[in-house]
Amino acid sequence: MNTLNVTKAPKSPSVAPNTHLIAAEGLTKRYRPGDPLAVDSVNFSLESGDILALLGPSGCGKTTTLRMIAGFEQPDDGQLFLHGKNVTALPPQQRRIGIVFQDYALFPHMTLGQNVAFAMRHVPKAKRAAKAREWLDLVGLADLIKRMPDELSGGQQQRVALARTLAAEPELVLLDEPFSNLDAALRESTRKEVRKLFKASGTTAILVTHDQGEALSFADQVGVMHAGKLLQVDRPERIYQRPATAFVAEFLGHTNLLDGNAEGEIAQTALGPVGIDSDIKGPVRVSLRPEHLAMSPAQEGKGATIIEREFRGHDCFYLLEQKGQLYSVITPSHILWKVGEQVDLEPQRRGSVLRD
Ligand code: ATP
Repeated sequence: MNTLNVTKAPKSPSVAPNTHLIAAEGLTKRYRPGDPLAVDSVNFSLESGDILALLGPSGCGKTTTLRMIAGFEQPDDGQLFLHGKNVTALPPQQRRIGIVFQDYALFPHMTLGQNVAFAMRHVPKAKRAAKAREWLDLVGLADLIKRMPDELSGGQQQRVALARTLAAEPELVLLDEPFSNLDAALRESTRKEVRKLFKASGTTAILVTHDQGEALSFADQVGVMHAGKLLQVDRPERIYQRPATAFVAEFLGHTNLLDGNAEGEIAQTALGPVGIDSDIKGPVRVSLRPEHLAMSPAQEGKGATIIEREFRGHDCFYLLEQKGQLYSVITPSHILWKVGEQVDLEPQRRGSVLRD
């Protein structure tokens, strides 16, 4: 994809220095009286040029949050700021926000060029066709400008949808599960290309997804939602390594939750002493990722017993049992153990102390 001639979306003249591009304060939504809150006091802010992924299971409130940001839903409580300006009451068309949907939503009776030109009401009519070519060039599809949408693959259609959104030069792009209709290989390559495009153009974006791999690889900030609440927002590596709660830890991948008693930077657990990332005393719950537990042949008596092995190509996942507790371990796939073998488990990294 050609990412050289990137047009940066013009910034609003009222940009105050150090103002977040978008900030949500206490966004709350209940659809019907008696229903649980669909979104419950959500706070976050995003710097210009950053990508935020809202990640969580079905029904946790991701789409409702996105719809409130777009202006399609009015919050019951809370406020939304764009460049420091309160836009909570503004209709969608006055927010300069672009949206890319899961189903692309291209106009079937228009060529790609016409689809993209349609978004350029701010550009003089005579210049729209040339501009549309530039945007299509940006997503690597300028050669197909005369094609109809049904003559494209899913990935190509998604890129046209993206070009059309960017052509409107929005301040913020919202993406609702935009890659979920693509097959696995296309999904990965499209997501990489889109990230590259956003980074090159300085686009600020919010992506909704229930796919943790997608959130971790696509975004600069990952926010995990559960039952309407935004539990934690952090950089991908940090939220994975230092999850705040057991739900966040488990939603981002397999983990071992160990209850223990902390004495400084060590917790005594059923697995023995485990290093922890906080200097505290008293009862703690610690998250230790499976790749941070090593196995060695059992030395004294009975260690842990391997009860399941799942070979996954690039790594191998093991389930083990020790004194009635289950543990998971991930090893590189060239280190193979057999089901039934006895091993000692040894933490290789500090565990992360959870808030709840
Ligand atoms: P998914 O990943 O399945 O799209 P989500 O995390 O985006 O889920 P939302 O669509 O925001 O979740 O839904 C949050 C809650 O609000 C759910 O309990 C859902 O049933 C409810 N809800 C969503 N839209 C409406 C609506 N139009 N009317 C009533 N309840 C709704």
